Amino acid sequence: MRKVFRSGEGMGIRLDSASAFPGAVISPHYDSLLVKVIASGKDMSTAAAKMHRALSEFRVRGVKTNIPFLQNVLSNHQFLHSTVDTQFIDENQNLFVMKPVQNRAQKLLHYLGHVMVNGPTTPIPVKAKPSSIDPVIPTVPMGDPSLGFRDVLLREGPEGFAKAVRAHPGLLLMDTTFRDAHQSLLATRVRTHDLKKIAPYVSHNFNNLFSLENWGGATFDVAMRFLYECPWKRLQELRTLVPNVPFQMLLRGANAVGYTNYPDNAVFKFCEVAKENGMDIFRVFDSLNYLPNMILGMEAAGRAGGVVEAAISYTGDVSDPMRQKYSLAYYVKLTEELMKAGTHVLCIKDMAGLLKPESSRILISALRDRYPDVPIHVHTHDTAGAGVAAMLACAEAGADVVDVAVDSMAGMTSQPSMGAMVACTKGTKLDTDCRRQQQNEEDEEVLDEREKMTNMKCLRWLSPLSPPHSPPSQVLKSLPRIEGRPGATLPPLDFDALEAGLRLLHGDDITEEDVMSAAMYPKVFQEYKEFTGSFGPVDCLSTRLFLDGPKIAEEFQVEIERGKTLHIKALAVGDLNKTGQRGVFFELNGQLRSVLVKDNVAMKEMKFHPKALKSVRGQVGAPMPGKVIEVKVEPGQKVEKGQPLCVLSAMKMETVVNSPLTGVVTVIHVNTDNSLEGDDLILEITAEE
Ligand code: MN
Repeated sequence: MRKVFRSGEGMGIRLDSASAFPGAVISPHYDSLLVKVIASGKDMSTAAAKMHRALSEFRVRGVKTNIPFLQNVLSNHQFLHSTVDTQFIDENQNLFVMKPVQNRAQKLLHYLGHVMVNGPTTPIPVKAKPSSIDPVIPTVPMGDPSLGFRDVLLREGPEGFAKAVRAHPGLLLMDTTFRDAHQSLLATRVRTHDLKKIAPYVSHNFNNLFSLENWGGATFDVAMRFLYECPWKRLQELRTLVPNVPFQMLLRGANAVGYTNYPDNAVFKFCEVAKENGMDIFRVFDSLNYLPNMILGMEAAGRAGGVVEAAISYTGDVSDPMRQKYSLAYYVKLTEELMKAGTHVLCIKDMAGLLKPESSRILISALRDRYPDVPIHVHTHDTAGAGVAAMLACAEAGADVVDVAVDSMAGMTSQPSMGAMVACTKGTKLDTDCRRQQQNEEDEEVLDEREKMTNMKCLRWLSPLSPPHSPPSQVLKSLPRIEGRPGATLPPLDFDALEAGLRLLHGDDITEEDVMSAAMYPKVFQEYKEFTGSFGPVDCLSTRLFLDGPKIAEEFQVEIERGKTLHIKALAVGDLNKTGQRGVFFELNGQLRSVLVKDNVAMKEMKFHPKALKSVRGQVGAPMPGKVIEVKVEPGQKVEKGQPLCVLSAMKMETVVNSPLTGVVTVIHVNTDNSLEGDDLILEITAEE
């Protein structure tokens, strides 16, 4: 069924049935090639369908084909259902609008080649390599996980959910491992690829959590900016894997998940789309407790149908009578406002880890006394090491939920340890009912695996990272002051116009979620789309391959979609060619493939700088390799023999290059900071007659 002829000999492939032509491969060794495909069927549409399939299964590499055009013709309504004359093509110019070819495999090879030649694409300021050990993924029992609080929420709505939480006898936990823990310890670099692997285990074994915090804050930004993955896809995929535990996100009040001010309709739409994608609980805060910003975020979350958790940012020390600004009265007053605004859950958000046991007792008992029906949820960071003690004090004073992280991701700037909270409350009236994970050895082993899963690939070498630079850290003194809530005066965002613009730039597969990503982070989204446009779905790669690329001779598999797996073997990295590129060779599904990758380091060094010709008088070259520190002359300047022309730094010493003759400088070939090889041309002098 497959035949390849030389061009000019003529060629025909006759297709009697579409199934007779799976994955035809045409050799690219011919400059031009004529391939004839004939499909027949009982009617036009059957024949066209067969032809469409035959064309879609062609794999022609290295030469351009008119297959996309022919596929457009085969999808054209007029072509399929009415008569067509010679004007057909002229009248249907949209036949020339080709869908971009996906070619995901080739793009991924390009990515891997790029990493093999140039190192990680994600900024990593440490030299350590990611672990080469593949973690053992704990197994989960067949069937659905046990019911959780999400089932209560879906059945009874936010108010019923809040009642159930309040009525729950023991202490409830929110696990921050998927969000704040790795935001605090690993610069938010844990990838969806790894979260997905552990998610079924979490769903089956942690079904009694209040919630799983997995989104918002920096995760939204970093997913696109550094991990080149879609934050919405993370939410969708985790939702499928964890149907029973509520998902919780952090919403920066009127700033949603961004750092800037958005028009109000953007915040409302954002919450709506987040809820549609599986978000349940919205912790709404403003770091300055600016009520108008908080109330807007609460309205947006509430209108989307989410659980509203208004969070008071805690600072100061309520147990210190000398500190009057952020006193108990301040927090009580603020709580009153948030209760009036209709929060379902009240949160104390101790973002700096300032809560001590005594202040916890004072604050939580005061709020508990005034508002016996509202669930109280406390968030802290274990920065000072007092997190467990403070959270215990909160729970004893009447808090319903506290935030913890899995042990290996707990402590330091992260949340207090889940294991410690579970152990400290065991057998008391606050029992977290997380005994199953702690009781028998086998379970502990599994828990250990979970810990490894979340941190093993990243913790070792990413932990010295400082959090990504964020604009919330700059003092923007020069910006004009805005009176009132900024979003209130901004014109509404035109989602249709934004979507149309994105389609123009990135093609037709722009989703509602993409529009929201672009609304929140326009530039980050643009760069993310460009990156994945060139390098393909890098989120399919394992974390080690993503960060470090494969070793030579390593064989591995990449599942680019369900049931579609690439078998890849890294063969070799070629020598540097004259244009600063290297060929990287792979075997892809048994076929040899190569990509050409720019060697960034070599390109920098390869200045392609002209050499000073010794035979030409007046061409001054570098006496040794070095860096240009100063050029002391200008074009047109007269110079004497022996006059300093240029200062080079070489081997930590400065070398002055003097003029070998008297004359006029005609051309200067270097700039300050240029790195030069020996004999690289510095400048040219015309001798004075
Ligand atoms: Mn936090």
